[in-house]
Amino acid sequence: MKKLQAIKGMNDLLPTETPYWQYLESVVTEVVQGYGYQEIRFPILESTELFKRTIGEVTDIVEKEMYTFDDRNGESVTLRPEGTASCVRASEQAQLLYNRGTLVQKLWYSGPMFRYEKPQKGRLRQFHQIGVEAYGIASADVDAEVLILTARLWRTLGLDSAVSLQINSLGTAESRAEYKAALVAYLNERKDQLDEDSQRRLGTNPLRILDSKNQNTQALLEGAPDLSDFLDDESKQHFSQLQTYLTAAGVTFEVNTRLVRGLDYYSRTVFEWVTDKLGAQGTVCAGGRYDGLVSQMGGQPTPAVGFAMGMERLVLLLQELNLFPEDLSRTVDVYLVAVGDVTLQAFQLAEYLREHAPYLRVQMNCGGGSFKSQMKKADRSGAEIALILGEDEAQSGEVTVKYLRADEPQQTIKQEQITDIIV
Ligand code: ATP
Ligand code: MG
Repeated sequence: MKKLQAIKGMNDLLPTETPYWQYLESVVTEVVQGYGYQEIRFPILESTELFKRTIGEVTDIVEKEMYTFDDRNGESVTLRPEGTASCVRASEQAQLLYNRGTLVQKLWYSGPMFRYEKPQKGRLRQFHQIGVEAYGIASADVDAEVLILTARLWRTLGLDSAVSLQINSLGTAESRAEYKAALVAYLNERKDQLDEDSQRRLGTNPLRILDSKNQNTQALLEGAPDLSDFLDDESKQHFSQLQTYLTAAGVTFEVNTRLVRGLDYYSRTVFEWVTDKLGAQGTVCAGGRYDGLVSQMGGQPTPAVGFAMGMERLVLLLQELNLFPEDLSRTVDVYLVAVGDVTLQAFQLAEYLREHAPYLRVQMNCGGGSFKSQMKKADRSGAEIALILGEDEAQSGEVTVKYLRADEPQQTIKQEQITDIIV
């Protein structure tokens, strides 16, 4: 019979890997909560309409990357390809955004996202993001805050010298439309020199051509009009304010006037944290301002800014640079060897330890076995200490402590003394 396999591009995270993920998730959680952001959770499946309307019909995601199907009732549903659309939808639905002026909503989310892409290193079909969104603030201080937050995260993880920040301003919808027209005029004159993808985008999503990986197209763009020349005064001021804040906060950045984002909903600030250590999948965190999105979805006009980071890429990067703490792979501290007819006493002893030393990870031997085979399991578990409970020890209320890694003599002690020895 053919063995069943996971779907291509959808990875299992095995027990050897989950400690790395837990570490990364706990560091991120601590940092974002340190800035007062609150967690929100929303469904993995949403109506297809949500993503079409927010991300935009002519984006890569909506055109070719979504997992979309009809449910049993014939309604078109989609596995979420990103979190912002759902975050806005959920916040709107619960009316979290109506108390603007008195209560700012600073939210974060995490979880799997789904995109039908060509799987490769750092690019999967089920991948994981942690994202942050702040609603209700139009000024550049909050753009700066989310970037200061990410900079702190990189420092905490030891990644600060491995990633760099690129920022740009897309201006308002109006200034962008003017720029779009100028870009299209420039490129139309050189249409036959464009790659096929860019030719198609010329009619649908011309800004995305700036993103093209094609070298000829990039060369052609050298002479193209520059987005920064089309910014309206307010956007210019907003952008310069952001740069002032970042500089004062010690966050280094580079202005990249070619930086555009794949989604339709951005306005003004866009940014990416990139690394050169992961090959083509170099963006580990990306986001920007999306002031128009809430009203576009039928809510009251609400300024918003946010970002999402790719957890797979961060795990890869931390592994590549050897930045995970060393003892992450050890998941058992104490292995309880129970030989003979002592199961009940072994349970009691294990529970006593868990009660009095809850920080210890105690694995009790289940399934019996000889002393020798249990000791082998104890060793393989990675535990520092084996506690040996035989029938004699059980009788006398004692236990034998054997150090599996350290060069220390084994000793037999009263069970109540155990927390004096094991700390
Ligand atoms: P890319 O240009 O790499 O396709 P994107 O612009 O499509 O990225 P976003 O939608 O901005 O990505 O998502 C934010 C982050 O999520 C990305 O910077 C990346 O770290 C991560 N990410 C996006 N798509 C994938 C994927 N298919 N597999 C793994 N991580 C991903
Ligand atoms: Mg993409």
